[in-house]
Amino acid sequence: MLLTITTTVRPATDLGFLLHKHPGRVQEFRQSFGTATVFYPEAGEERCTAALLLDVDPVALVRSRGKGSPDFSLSQYVNDRPYAASSLLAVALADVFRTARAGRCTARPELPGTPLPLELRLPALPCRGGPDLARRLFEPLGWEVDAQALPLDEAFPEWGQSRYVGLTLRGASRLADALNHLYVLLPVLDDAKHYWIAPDEVDKLIRAGTGWLHGHPERGLITRRYLGRRHSLARTALARLAELGDETEEQLEPAVEEEPPTEDPAAGEAAEEETAADEPAVTTQADAGAEAEAGAAEVRPKALNVRRREAVLAKLAELGAVSVIDLGCGQGELVGALLATPRFAKVGGMDVSSMALTVAARKLRLDRMPDSRRARLTLFQGALTYTDKRLSGYDAAVLMEVVEHVDPSRLEALERVVFGHARPAHVLVTTPNIEYNVRYEFLTGLRHPDHRFEWTRAEFTAWASRVAGRHGYRVAYEPVGDEDPEVGPPTQMGVFTLDQRS
Ligand code: SAH
Repeated sequence: MLLTITTTVRPATDLGFLLHKHPGRVQEFRQSFGTATVFYPEAGEERCTAALLLDVDPVALVRSRGKGSPDFSLSQYVNDRPYAASSLLAVALADVFRTARAGRCTARPELPGTPLPLELRLPALPCRGGPDLARRLFEPLGWEVDAQALPLDEAFPEWGQSRYVGLTLRGASRLADALNHLYVLLPVLDDAKHYWIAPDEVDKLIRAGTGWLHGHPERGLITRRYLGRRHSLARTALARLAELGDETEEQLEPAVEEEPPTEDPAAGEAAEEETAADEPAVTTQADAGAEAEAGAAEVRPKALNVRRREAVLAKLAELGAVSVIDLGCGQGELVGALLATPRFAKVGGMDVSSMALTVAARKLRLDRMPDSRRARLTLFQGALTYTDKRLSGYDAAVLMEVVEHVDPSRLEALERVVFGHARPAHVLVTTPNIEYNVRYEFLTGLRHPDHRFEWTRAEFTAWASRVAGRHGYRVAYEPVGDEDPEVGPPTQMGVFTLDQRS
């Protein structure tokens, strides 16, 4: 099994720094199922190639059976595992290039963030779905894909094609992204990863897929195949991806100007999600129980992100807000819904991430937006931890699932900026209730890799009442999502109102 990674960046030997593997050496790494060897067939200033060769030991594969080792149940039979790039190669790649995949490089800290001209080659890749599927998976990620079906036997063309593909990917990508694409998509193409799916695979998938999976047109197929078609796991992963702002453009298409926003969380997904479509978008143990009681099928709980948005919109209307700014607006879901509601005459959206804003502009179809609507909107880049005049002049500010992305040491700066300087009459803050995490099947750790913390209900109310007291606000608390008798709601919302006396 062979993977080669070539770059033509100058100096090309930077690849050695990035991979943490010296170009002058041949290094071996023991795996439970064989040996991975890293070497450089070429290492010049203009072109450098690293090769990862995986030698699978069929005996070791059998011996490691049952110890969480990949593919063990296939291993006792004659099979192609030792020869074809597959899920085993993904496992070895994750181990051998662990630091590179995490995007760390202490020797040259600027390198991991820089897109490099790359060529990745996999001479023999088991590919259920053929070259076409390889293109569907890699092209949306910006790769130029050369995928050729390999004949069963070159001497006997009449035997037809094998299920193997020779794959070459070319493009400019950060090395960590490229490795994460392979880590997730090799087992997806292989589709033989049925026997070793541990619950933490969902976390692994979400971590490796950060920044690209939730926007991928084939995310349903990727998620299901990666998780070995275990539907409960796939559902959890898709729900969590949805929570990260994963919505199709159709859902964001603003409703007719005169109508309130209408959203059916399942509508956009239906066509592409195959089997997942008839299952609830968010599954918690509580939901599953409730659904069984209610006689299943007709009950389809709305995705939590949709319920959150609806709760925020309803609260803003109730408070009589006419101008609203969404702080940390992400990909613009709430901004779109606000614009679709005529009562919100002035709408602001701000985020620190230019990528999020670019996606927001595309999803909101800013270039084709009618002038009347466009005139109501201000979308801009900014950081919540720096005083900014552009945040003033709104009736209400929303911080929806944002505070938990801010380092605790910077929270006080955010408080000053929002409650001290911008000082709108109302501030709505939503954040996960960490107590509820036990209700998510297979969730280990926090809900998102970028969360710096998640609060219990007591921690949230302590923080919110302290902030309110300091800045002359009153605060009330509201649950969002189905409240669990023991652990509370999945999302907690604080509704701050400026005290007129202060
Ligand atoms: N409010 C959106 C997005 C939540 S994700 C929603 O509910 O769907 C958190 C967002 O906060 C990200 O888009 C991130 O870029 C943004 N963010 C994180 N720290 C920020 C900061 N200091 N200033 C502005 N935005 C920030």
